[in-house]
Amino acid sequence: MDFALTEEQQAIQALAREFAEQEIAPHAADWDRDHQFPREVFGKLGELGLMGVCVPEELGGAGADFVSYVLVLEELSRADAGVGVTVAVHTSAATLPIVAFGTHEQKGRFVPPLARGEVIGAFALTEPGSGSDAGSLRTTAVPDGDGGWRISGTKQWCTNGSHASTFLLFARTDPETEGARGVSAFLLDAEHVEVTREEEKLGLHSSSTADLRLDNALVDGDRMLHEERKGFVVAMATLDGGRIGIAAQAVGIAQAALDTARSYALEREQFGSRIAEFQAIRFKLADMATEIAAARQLTLRAAWLKQAGLPHGSEGAMAKLFASQVAVRASQEAIQVLGGYGYTREFPAERYYRDAKITEIYEGTSEIQRIVISRELLRAADARGA
Ligand SMILES: Cc1cc2nc3c(=O)[nH]c(=O)nc-3n(C[C@H](O)[C@H](O)[C@H](O)COP(=O)(O)OP(=O)(O)OC[C@H]3O[C@@H](n4cnc5c(N)ncnc54)[C@H](O)[C@@H]3O)c2cc1C
Repeated sequence: MDFALTEEQQAIQALAREFAEQEIAPHAADWDRDHQFPREVFGKLGELGLMGVCVPEELGGAGADFVSYVLVLEELSRADAGVGVTVAVHTSAATLPIVAFGTHEQKGRFVPPLARGEVIGAFALTEPGSGSDAGSLRTTAVPDGDGGWRISGTKQWCTNGSHASTFLLFARTDPETEGARGVSAFLLDAEHVEVTREEEKLGLHSSSTADLRLDNALVDGDRMLHEERKGFVVAMATLDGGRIGIAAQAVGIAQAALDTARSYALEREQFGSRIAEFQAIRFKLADMATEIAAARQLTLRAAWLKQAGLPHGSEGAMAKLFASQVAVRASQEAIQVLGGYGYTREFPAERYYRDAKITEIYEGTSEIQRIVISRELLRAADARGA
């Protein structure tokens, strides 16, 4: 067993950390306060190869592995979790499904501009009436009689929705089949969708979360991804991998919270000594560091399994379930270490706390992760006759 990162993984991690510390972290508080989507950052990340880090080189990516990708997400999210989710959805929810399921022509047409960061990708599955039960979605795609499709419906909370040029969107092509088996996946352009609203959120203010409307949008037949009625296969495979990215985002937020709490504890004096001398504070830092280390290992292991082509659904769900809890706890404890200052906007702890919560919700809530994990656990026991 080898826990060491390869030289290439270390180099990519260092590149992402340097960029995040110089170009993202100094602006994160302003972007959060102004609700600003930092579009220029994604162009620069593209130039560094970090908008398609695990996309094959022949498709415009950096050709690195999935472990490198989660290392990048951790570093970006440590600086700004909004930037982290923008890159996560762009890469694992929009670009990688095209790499995995696209035809030769679709890969050549859609992937290189995404992988180079020239355009941004989005993933539109959720609707007002279908969240965890995504298979009940109601957006419809009806044959136009000429080989194409007419798509109508509404999509909710689409990350990158206001800035994306390529949308992986799910619609029901078979009205007779209830649930997931009647759903197909499509690749759409920005002109196919109308952004109706930008959501107001608790946190992640530097990211875009938009509602979309499709009104009889005409889409050519060659824009269906994978086979007809196989959209849910695409969606589930995408979320299996995407969850590992959200786990990495959570680890990044938790690490940022620990960094902030540690430096504050070494500076702040009360009762004639630094608060870092008090055991109550030290133990908080020790617990945070231990939990973060465990969350990171779960995340890297799930990423390694995915890269190796091994089953990773349950392991990714475990990583997300645990890492998101760690992020919420660590950011809450960071506020406690900072006392009253932690509750103010003068320090970033309150932003980490607001940003951490979403990691327990999107790409499958914690309850849904427990369903995935327990299903696998019981299936394995059943198979053994236990
Ligand atoms: C900021 C943000 C960004 C997002 N980005 C995207 C995106 O880019 N693309 C996209 O398609 N979606 C996106 N989403 C949607 C997100 O994935 C959903 O919010 C999430 O899957 C949960 O669905 P829901 O909010 O409808 O909750 P619901 O499914 O209505 O769940 C409500 C509660 O019931 C629980 N629950 C539901 N079913 C069960 C069950 N069977 N057993 C036990 N408990 C259950 C849930 O865990 C939750 O606690 C985003 C959401 C937000 C807030």
